Amino acid sequence: MDTQVAIIGGGPSGLLLSQLLNRAGIATVILERSSRDHVLSRIRAGILEWGTVELLREAGVGARMEAEGFPHDGTFLTDAERMVHIDFKGLTGKQVMVYGQTEVTRDLYDAQDAMGTTILHGVEDVSIHDLDGPVARVDYTLNGERRSLTCAYVAGCDGFHGVSRQTIPEDKRREFERVYPFGWLGILSRTPPVSHELIYANSPHGFALASMRNANLVRCYVQVPLSDKAEDWSDDRFWAEFRRRLPSETAARLITGPSIEKSIAPLRSFVSEPLRWGRLFLVGDAAHIVPPTGAKGLNLAASDVFYLHQALTDALQTGSKGGIDAYSDRALARIWKAMRFSWQMTTMLHRFEGEDSFAERMRGATLAHLAQSEVARRDLAENYVGLPF
Ligand SMILES: Cc1cc2nc3c(=O)[nH]c(=O)nc-3n(C[C@H](O)[C@H](O)[C@H](O)COP(=O)(O)OP(=O)(O)OC[C@H]3O[C@@H](n4cnc5c(N)ncnc54)[C@H](O)[C@@H]3O)c2cc1C
Repeated sequence: MDTQVAIIGGGPSGLLLSQLLNRAGIATVILERSSRDHVLSRIRAGILEWGTVELLREAGVGARMEAEGFPHDGTFLTDAERMVHIDFKGLTGKQVMVYGQTEVTRDLYDAQDAMGTTILHGVEDVSIHDLDGPVARVDYTLNGERRSLTCAYVAGCDGFHGVSRQTIPEDKRREFERVYPFGWLGILSRTPPVSHELIYANSPHGFALASMRNANLVRCYVQVPLSDKAEDWSDDRFWAEFRRRLPSETAARLITGPSIEKSIAPLRSFVSEPLRWGRLFLVGDAAHIVPPTGAKGLNLAASDVFYLHQALTDALQTGSKGGIDAYSDRALARIWKAMRFSWQMTTMLHRFEGEDSFAERMRGATLAHLAQSEVARRDLAENYVGLPF
């Protein structure tokens, strides 16, 4: 065999899995379609559950996160003028870490380079074969030349549009999906955060999220119709709409500035079952997508990696197949709970086009209940900081 585990996709899932396997003495090769610069330029997740923080430490990539990340003790949910504080630390004893996916990915690339792992960029036309035989094979094209890689196992870490999930025959896959009728327009701006913690705003004008990366870099979002284009939104138009969706006292503190990135992300809930097909295992966005409202996408990728790296290590080092046999069920049990939470947060905080006044009252009642009930706040906090792996 050319390697023990072939990993398709050099995003956070593929890199973290490779890093943990390499540290356990298992050889990997990563095949990534895009350039490293492209992977590192994608502005995505920013909130790490504590379980993800601990897994990154275990992978030996915690140092810069410890120095430059920001632990947050809670978050705010608001509607027109009401602010409800969810005190994660007081309610669960746990925090979350504000540290961008771009930084996590950069730390992982640096660590993988230090381990000497082979990461091939610009790989095209990946196809996966022999998943029910003794040795699997991955074919790919690099610099115009067709090549093959033989391996014991294949990890499909190639995101929602990748090839791995499609390799499982259609009649053996079951897909579950909910597409939401709106997207998030996000901007990155070198301005100070409007609040020391994130604000999830359920306003009569639609949802807004005030998030951040550091003391002078914010990531802010507004809910927009799917028909909108990022170019339709000047910075002034964005900030005016964002301000309108915050409680007035908070809006009065808002400092605005030019955007350095602006994009629209559609919102979707999606799960494909099973996560295993012979010698192939699906990980992260290759198998599931959550709307970003619950900050779960990257964190679910991390918990999949946690289960799979243990399972592959056992299979390759002791011959014990119990972990790989259980991988799909173990990971899916946690995935579905995060799906439920992300769907619930999305429903609670967004205006749905054409909705009736009943739906609006339900959102208001949910927030009112959270304001009054410590039990309700603890439930939200427990899910937000992340259920145990
Ligand atoms: C706007 C936005 C905000 C988000 N906010 C959060 C948040 O706050 N918290 C959170 O936890 N999550 C969040 N997420 C989700 C998070 O970014 C993803 O869940 C995460 O990127 C999943 O990592 P992954 O490695 O599984 O997939 P990806 O990051 O998609 O990586 C897959 C990699 O595979 C490569 N690839 C694809 N096809 C092939 C192929 N055929 N051959 C070779 N390589 C291939 C791709 O180029 C890519 O590099 C957000 C996402 C978006 C879009």
